[in-house]
Amino acid sequence: MPTLFLTTVAVTFMVGVLYLLSWSQTRRERALAIWGIAHLVGSGASCLLGLRGAIPDPVSIGLGNAVMIGAYGLIWSGVRAFEGRRTHLGWAVAGGLVWSAACLVPAFYTSVAARIVLASATAGLYCALGAWTIWRGRGEPLISRYPAIVLLGSYAAVYWVRIPLAMVFPPPVLAPLSDSPWLAILCFVGTLYSVAIAFVLMALTKERAEREQRLAAETDALTGIANRRAFVARAEACLAVRPAALLLLDLDHFKTINDRFGHSVGDAVLTAFCHAAAPMLPRNAVFGRLGGEEFACLLPETGAGLAARFAESVRGSVGRIAHPDYPDLRVGVSVGIAAGAAGCDLDDLLRRADGALYGAKRNGRDQVRVEAPPNPSVVRAA
Ligand code: GH3
Ligand code: MG
Ligand code: MG
Repeated sequence: MPTLFLTTVAVTFMVGVLYLLSWSQTRRERALAIWGIAHLVGSGASCLLGLRGAIPDPVSIGLGNAVMIGAYGLIWSGVRAFEGRRTHLGWAVAGGLVWSAACLVPAFYTSVAARIVLASATAGLYCALGAWTIWRGRGEPLISRYPAIVLLGSYAAVYWVRIPLAMVFPPPVLAPLSDSPWLAILCFVGTLYSVAIAFVLMALTKERAEREQRLAAETDALTGIANRRAFVARAEACLAVRPAALLLLDLDHFKTINDRFGHSVGDAVLTAFCHAAAPMLPRNAVFGRLGGEEFACLLPETGAGLAARFAESVRGSVGRIAHPDYPDLRVGVSVGIAAGAAGCDLDDLLRRADGALYGAKRNGRDQVRVEAPPNPSVVRAA
């Protein structure tokens, strides 16, 4: 038991320091700081609990458990911070305060079963709240959420199972630490859980940071849609296995819009274009900004005829773009369309769609033009 406690104290302490170091590098993820403090607090609690017999019982049992429950409260607070929810320090320490107050009542303090029931109920509640909070944030797709939910949830279950067990088989009053094999097992399980939870919470923050970086690298900063690189990667992946139609969209006289209304209005028009176009496209469309005022959209499993109808609805929607300060602002878009079979080359498709777009521009702009497929037998009719 002393070895086990010493290991728990040292490991929890090191994990707390690692969390704080990790937080100090960017200071963006407040949850890392809260989890760091939670682990340092937990390490202190393990120390007090492990010194049972060597220090006065009220300090080991009373204070030690209060601090340990507080550490679980902080873990839950960190999870709330991670999910962008308000952290309630009052609620995080409430469990420890309730425990401390209960310990002042002799009937409670002398009943081992009562102590196990209250400590397990509160610690389990914080773990369950942590699991539930992570579950509620699942709109942000992070794989590490699920091991975190399972770990925190099952830890809550382990604590709560102790409640009926303690009531049915109350342990002897104030048994010395080393006499109880169950205590050793419980302590071992607790150490494993603490380490596993520490790893999985760290994995969550790393996964979020990586996801944010990946999204930033794939997203056009102005319009929020896929940038050229992401569009090409997604379109190539799609074209490799499915036939598709490609829309090449270029805003008309955009230079004039910039010159007449200013660059910031031009920027607003680019964003408004994306907002106007996106709802007109099917859900599986791959939409991206190739650069400047040129956009592309790949429509999987779509023939040129149906693609032209999507393009017409985009053109109609773009034509309704208005700016409250500039009533004479008009936005038009020319669209060139080419269709290709599964496995065809994206560059080739882009070149052909560009040829059709050139035709639309030459023919007066603000219109959709379809390039006849070179081999109609491999393009599915719309
Ligand atoms: P056309 O009808 O033939 O397509 O003419 P156009 O004026 O739309 O095309 P042109 O290629 O002559 O001009 C495109 C302009 O788009 C030039 C460039 O300054 C502007 N532009 C490129 N990127 C941005 C941007 O991010 N924001 C703004 N406001 N303007 C941009
Ligand atoms: Mg243009
Ligand atoms: Mg252009």
